[in-house]
Amino acid sequence: MPNAMGEDVVAEQRVRAQQGVLVQLLTSERLDLLPLAEAYARLTRRVAEVIGVERVSIWDLDQAAGRLHCRHLHFHGSDSHSSGEMLRAEDYPVYFHTLAHSRAIAAHDACNDPATREFASGYLKPLGISSMLDATVRRSGHTVGIVCLEHVGPARRWSLDEQQFCATVADIVVMLQESQERRELQERLYQQMRRDALTGLPNLTRLREELGAMDLQRCGPHALMLLDLERFGEINHSLGHRTGDQVLCAIASRLTTDLPPGARVARLSGDKFALWLPLQDGADPLALARSIQACLREPIDIGAARLAVTARFGISLCPEHGSDGHELLLRADMAMHDAKGTLHGCLLYDPVRDRSSARRLGLIHDLRGADQRAELFAVFQPRVSLPEGRILGVEALLRWRHPQLGNVSPGEFIPLAEMSDLIVDLTLAVLRMSGSAWHSWQQAGHELALSINLSARAIGDRGFTEAVLRQLAESGVPPQHIEFEITESAICDETDQGLETLRLIREAGARISLDDFGVGHSSMARLSRLPVDVMKIDQMFVRDMLRDPRHAAIVRTSIDLAHSMGLSAVAEGVETAEVAAALARLGCDEAQGYHYGATLPPEELARLLRPGGTAP
Ligand code: C2E
Ligand code: CA
Ligand code: CA
Repeated sequence: MPNAMGEDVVAEQRVRAQQGVLVQLLTSERLDLLPLAEAYARLTRRVAEVIGVERVSIWDLDQAAGRLHCRHLHFHGSDSHSSGEMLRAEDYPVYFHTLAHSRAIAAHDACNDPATREFASGYLKPLGISSMLDATVRRSGHTVGIVCLEHVGPARRWSLDEQQFCATVADIVVMLQESQERRELQERLYQQMRRDALTGLPNLTRLREELGAMDLQRCGPHALMLLDLERFGEINHSLGHRTGDQVLCAIASRLTTDLPPGARVARLSGDKFALWLPLQDGADPLALARSIQACLREPIDIGAARLAVTARFGISLCPEHGSDGHELLLRADMAMHDAKGTLHGCLLYDPVRDRSSARRLGLIHDLRGADQRAELFAVFQPRVSLPEGRILGVEALLRWRHPQLGNVSPGEFIPLAEMSDLIVDLTLAVLRMSGSAWHSWQQAGHELALSINLSARAIGDRGFTEAVLRQLAESGVPPQHIEFEITESAICDETDQGLETLRLIREAGARISLDDFGVGHSSMARLSRLPVDVMKIDQMFVRDMLRDPRHAAIVRTSIDLAHSMGLSAVAEGVETAEVAAALARLGCDEAQGYHYGATLPPEELARLLRPGGTAP
């Protein structure tokens, strides 16, 4: 009895020790955080020690194929990451069958045990294995592998505690597999968040991280090129998003072909990409950008369509233009914006321009709220009939008196307002101020035509048009006295929304004039379909028409064209009586320019309207 008691105590202590090892592996060694192979190595080594067996292995079961693959074998104190061994169900049918139907196989005499004797001659005897203890690894009710303990030397019986221990090891294997899968999933998600789903390229986040991780002062000369596809919106709009996506993928693949080592390509957003390129000694970054540009310009075949895409490039250089990735990106972006309108559409960051961009940023900031601070006001330029010179209407032009900088020209602040959405508020402000001026002239007996400029950038926005028409109604000026000036390019390049805007304006009863006519490049076919009432011939042709015969020809043709389309022709920039007379001879209907009057505040314009009144 005392002896049996003693055995029990020893057995219990052994069980505790065994379990303690497993607890330690999980809690202080955090096996679950290790790569799977490393975790298997530690687990099998400790199991071999604590149970006292020579071989411990972990196998994966491919149920459908009937295969067991050895993933890890611990053998006499040495590890093999994967023994590479594979067992087939057709060679060991009884063993596979038993695995499928029991949670464990405890073979005291493995060479003669019905479940394991298939291994006797080819495996057990050559290796001297006498006893085997297998526990199945089960996930969601299916056997997906085994943990296998093999004893070399005299046969041993497996106690229930040992069988239980082996089953616990199998459960730990499941846990390790699951945490490995969780890590892989996290890694995949992490990668996905840094990759553009359409092209598979790294995205902006990833590019920022990569640039952030580099030592830019030491990585040697590089160029960061940002590129923006031109008129990509049109492709998307007219050929559909699927085609747009195909174009983007084609561009991505061209950009990634033949990249030098160390180069990176990323897609930043819609139609913007980035290239990070090492520069060989003396390499000209602009020439490099142009060659990439030329390669992108090669036609892309999509179905039956051949599309050509051009891209604008903005370039910053490392290390000259920035001490970190953020600065390089910002400066390349700045250059990309300024590249619009340059001959090749490629521009290198220029610190001199940057100073002016600081001014621009400041102006955008100050422009917000300029109306409330009463810094904005409208001035009016008369428009007269030809040949009489009678004032028929006025064009409202916005002025900004900046408290520190003085007068800022609309040529400078209007494009900024367009960039920042402030244009909506500015246009509404001009309408409001012009409306009250119009009423004051009306009280003096003059019902003038009032021209308001609508920004090209804004008319594509339906909300903008609606706000303008609401403000027009509020102003109380009868719509038939209002004319909205829209540049030719605004309606010719843009989407159907531009046309829709024209339709809405006319429906409201106002007229439309085509501003700056002659500088755009609209086709005759397109022009003839536009719902406009007036054509304003650009001042650049009018001003010097008596000195430049080509400009004179453009003015003459424009007047004829306007008349043939049933529009009235207005010449802008009339600075002399001679030009006015020449225009009258050509049959031009109206004129506007310094010859008739500069831009005036409402009271001075009222004075001009009085019989015999003159501009100050
Ligand atoms: P624009 O619509 O072509 O306006 C005519 C511009 O030519 C005005 O310049 C006017 O002062 C100037 N001008 C008038 N007569 C003559 C002349 O005989 N000779 C010369 N050399 N110039 C003449 P401004 O006021 O500086 O406006 C420049 C541009 O700013 C405008 O060109 C227009 O595009 C934009 N703008 C002005 N006010 C507004 C506005 O309220 N809304 C919008 N969207 N744009 C505006
Ligand atoms: Ca205008
Ligand atoms: Ca104009």
